[in-house]
Amino acid sequence: MSKSTRVPGYMQSKGARNRGPLGDREIRYKCSMQNTILDVLRARPGWQEVSGPNPPQQQQLQQQQQQEKKGSQNSAPSNQLPTTTSSRSSEGDWDFHWCDREWLHANYDTMFLQEHQKILHFRNHYELTRKNLMVKNLKRLRKQTEREMGKKEAESFDFYPTTYELPSEYHIFVEEFKKNQGIIWIMKPAAKSQGRGIFLFRKLKDITDWKKGEYQPLTDPNREVPETYVVQRYIEDPYLIGGRKFDIRVYVLVVSYNPLKVWLYRSGFARFSNSRFSLDSIEDAYVHLTNVAVQKTAPDYDPDKGCKWATQQLRSYLTAKHGSDAARRVFQGIDNIIIKSLQSVQKIIINDKHCFEMYGYDVLLDDKLKPWLIEINASPSLTASGKDDYDLKHGVLNDVLNVLDLENRLTGKEKRVGGFDLIWDDGAVTTDDGAMECSVNSVSTTSNSFLGCHCDRKKHLREIYTAAQALKKSTPS
Ligand code: ADP
Repeated sequence: MSKSTRVPGYMQSKGARNRGPLGDREIRYKCSMQNTILDVLRARPGWQEVSGPNPPQQQQLQQQQQQEKKGSQNSAPSNQLPTTTSSRSSEGDWDFHWCDREWLHANYDTMFLQEHQKILHFRNHYELTRKNLMVKNLKRLRKQTEREMGKKEAESFDFYPTTYELPSEYHIFVEEFKKNQGIIWIMKPAAKSQGRGIFLFRKLKDITDWKKGEYQPLTDPNREVPETYVVQRYIEDPYLIGGRKFDIRVYVLVVSYNPLKVWLYRSGFARFSNSRFSLDSIEDAYVHLTNVAVQKTAPDYDPDKGCKWATQQLRSYLTAKHGSDAARRVFQGIDNIIIKSLQSVQKIIINDKHCFEMYGYDVLLDDKLKPWLIEINASPSLTASGKDDYDLKHGVLNDVLNVLDLENRLTGKEKRVGGFDLIWDDGAVTTDDGAMECSVNSVSTTSNSFLGCHCDRKKHLREIYTAAQALKKSTPS
């Protein structure tokens, strides 16, 4: 791609200073990842990669150089850290940054962003994406809902399995454990991913060794704080297809928390475990954990056969087997999970108009077709496991950029952009004309949610860009 491609219509927002209008210049991006997102950014017409040290590192570098210049005149090292950083001043100047969470944590508090700049992640995204905090926030909103609106309304929060944080809630967990002898529990490190450190157990003594190692009272002051875990009721009756368990990955884009504005991607996938489900071998990760990172290490894993279904395939299967009403209820249940979970942190997340988040939700169905929230990821894997997976991720990421619309090609009133449907905009979004678009969903619905429905994103993009262009031409600026 020619790097000098220009972006007509990429206008500077009001308030951005010290720079001429951005119209007709490249959109400069930074990217911390070496996967599909980099391919997408590099292939995007009119976008230009910028490199160079990150701003604070750059300031430190400059300080170091100044000190070296002073040399023998002043050999005392300065321990002064930069206090404020303008993202404008460096050769790493950017309009868009797909950064990793570590970068954001290291730089957010010292960053000054210009009006138009966009950056991945909200400052305290972990309120939703750490397993213990997610449940804490959900429990709080559930209680509040029960207080203010009654028990019935609070039942709409019954989508996460009973969960306790360890070590802090160990004693409450033990009480609950004793009330439900014989059931299976799953232990998960609160801040790890890809199935790392997870195990299942039936008896309290099964966690005794773990307990000794992990969180005995801290007699040694030099010892690190014990790692936080969650212990969670294991869903023993998952919905099975071909005898195998799966969970569903759903992509959700939040462009603002205040007001809450949420886009849901039509496609995603179901990730199957490699082995048939059974409760006889609870120590077998290939049976119980559906993470691709776990499954691909199975000795009989076949990368060509893969272990994924597109969400469309899953929806068609459920519709054929259980009818369209039942399938619709499954997907409405997932919408409810998404909205309630985001609302649970709406007042806690530090809202910043520069930030956006692309979440990967993990949802499991039980054999009564009830969806359960397992986890929310702020950095869902963008590494493709095959061609279909690459195409899916390529589409999702392109449509994230299309919704953010740094090129200013849309009207701002769209309810659908490519594969993304706007499902919440300070309130539920209803569809005006699209209910019948979902070929497998013959039942009319007013919600603007089409998870698992047909996703003709390219055709749709062409249509909305043409319509937006015509509207802009006919409206005097
Ligand atoms: P990680 O962040 O390490 O991926 P998850 O919470 O997503 O941890 O759990 C990993 C996998 O374990 C899930 O994809 C799911 O297959 C299984 N799992 C997790 N929690 C439960 C549960 N409560 N019941 C049944 N299966 C679960």
